[in-house]
Amino acid sequence: MKILIIEDEYKLRNLINSTLTREGHDVDTAAGGEEGFELALNNAYDLIMLDWMLPKKDGLSILEDLRDRGISTLVMMITAKSDLDDKLAGLDMGADDYLIKPFHVDELVARVKAMARRLNLEATHLRHVGNLEINLIKHHVQANGNPLEVTGRDFHLLELLSRAPGQIFTRTQILSHVWQISYDPQTNVVDVYVNRLRKKLAEFEGSPLIENVRGVGYRLKPMEP
Ligand code: CA
Repeated sequence: MKILIIEDEYKLRNLINSTLTREGHDVDTAAGGEEGFELALNNAYDLIMLDWMLPKKDGLSILEDLRDRGISTLVMMITAKSDLDDKLAGLDMGADDYLIKPFHVDELVARVKAMARRLNLEATHLRHVGNLEINLIKHHVQANGNPLEVTGRDFHLLELLSRAPGQIFTRTQILSHVWQISYDPQTNVVDVYVNRLRKKLAEFEGSPLIENVRGVGYRLKPMEP
């Protein structure tokens, strides 16, 4: 993995760096918060090891600013044992894991391996259709890298249509998958949801179109590149 370590304590930074480099990772380091934040903004890391207490810009505000910019890189906070409140605040801010100081190198290696497994797992659960990225675990959708508000039944509808772009799904199939009902309720509920999803997708240039095939059903039609 490509890993960034932001840690101001010289010995600890070197220990983490040498351990992870020996494990085969490609490691960058920063001693200061601002320097670390710049590196995190301008490089594609798989994991950021982020110390809490840093000069100039602390770990929590780095995490907050990264998430605000839509950077969802895995972040492992490094924090002292006593800072339990900080840990909770960090979870709120979107930290992915914690390493409590002092720690043994074996624990460091094990936790980083767990992050790598998680990354691989997430990668296999990302479905790409045109400019859309659909996260099948988190139920998040991005269009051109921007978050798209597609939740609940809208998500299940998009998930179904995106299984096979170009293939027509009948209203019965859609009702069965999205509403778990096997009869026709004689309402236009499918059309209402399809139209709403179509409008959401249309907010982003280059998004797939949802095509109504009259009398048959609907299909997702990716835009030609
Ligand atoms: Ca520190």
